[in-house]
Amino acid sequence: MREKLIELNNVTFTYEADEDGTPGYTAVRDVSLDIYKGEFVAVLGHNGSGKSTLAKMMNAIYEPTEGTVTVNGILVDSEEKGDEIRRIVGMVFQNPDNQIVATIVEDDVAFGPENLGVEPSEIRRRVDEALKTVGMYELREREPHKLSGGQKQRVAIAGVLAMQTQGIILDEPTAMLDPTGREEVLKTIIRLNREIGITVVLITHFMDEAVQADRVVVMDKGEIIADGTPREIFARGEFLREHSLDVPQSTELCRRLGFEECILTPAECVEKISSVLGGAAQ
Ligand code: ADP
Ligand code: MG
Repeated sequence: MREKLIELNNVTFTYEADEDGTPGYTAVRDVSLDIYKGEFVAVLGHNGSGKSTLAKMMNAIYEPTEGTVTVNGILVDSEEKGDEIRRIVGMVFQNPDNQIVATIVEDDVAFGPENLGVEPSEIRRRVDEALKTVGMYELREREPHKLSGGQKQRVAIAGVLAMQTQGIILDEPTAMLDPTGREEVLKTIIRLNREIGITVVLITHFMDEAVQADRVVVMDKGEIIADGTPREIFARGEFLREHSLDVPQSTELCRRLGFEECILTPAECVEKISSVLGGAAQ
C-alpha cells in the first residue's frame, strides 16, 4: 500500500484580524489532501487561492486553525515540532535572494546540516552530493549573490537536499526566473523526484511545469476544486478558464486543430500531427 508523507484532514486556516481593523481572512477552507511518498504533485490556482498558506502548513510554518496536518505520521500541533517537520520536508520559496544565508555557495548548503549538529565530514559529503545533484558543484566556491536566479534556486534546493529530507515543497520557485533559469530548475526538480525518489509538491503558474507532475491539484478561493492526472485536469480547458487558469500551449494548439485526445507536451503534439499527416499521405 502507498504510504502517505503529508496528510491534511479538513484543514482551515484563518489569518487573524489586525489591530488596524483588517478583518480575519480564511485563506484555506476545509481542505483534505494526501501526498504520497515518491509522488510529484503540482498545485495550481490563481493569486490569492491559498496555495502558499497551504504550503506553509505542510511545512509547519503555520498550524491549521481547524483540522489536522500530519507529516510522516507526526501531527503538526505546536511550534516546537517545526524543526522535526522540516527535517522531513524542506521548503523553497519564490525569491532566490531571500533564501541565501552565506557568502559562499557551499557554506550556504552546509548551513542546514550544521544547525542540526551533523559531523563535519558527513556535512562535507552531503554538501558535495547535493551540489552535484543540482549541477552546482563546479560553482561551489562562488559568491551566491553573483549567480543567476536559476543557479540561486538550485543552491536553495541543494540546501534542502543536504538536510536529507523525504520531501520538498517549492512555492513558485521559477516565478522570478528567465526561461533558461526556469528550465534548469524544472529539470532539477524532475531529477530529484524520478532519480532520488524525493516527494515533490510544486506550486506553479506554469502549465508546462504542471504537466510533468504525476498529479495536479487545483485550488480556488481556499478550496481544492480539482485533483487528477495532468491529462485529466488539462482535458478540462473550459473549467480551467472559468477559474482564470490556462492549459499548456500544446494542449490548446491540438484542441484548436480539432484533435479529440488531450495532448500535453510539444513532443506529443509533434507526434500527433505527424501521425495525422502520415495518415493523410498514405
Ligand atoms: P496564493 O499563494 O495562492 O496566492 P496565499 O495563500 O498567499 O495565496 O493567500 C491566500 C489569501 O490569504 C489571499 O487573499 C491573501 O491576501 C491572504 N493572506 C495571505 N497572507 C496573509 C496575511 N499574512 N494576513 C492576512 N491575509 C493574508
Ligand atoms: Mg503564493
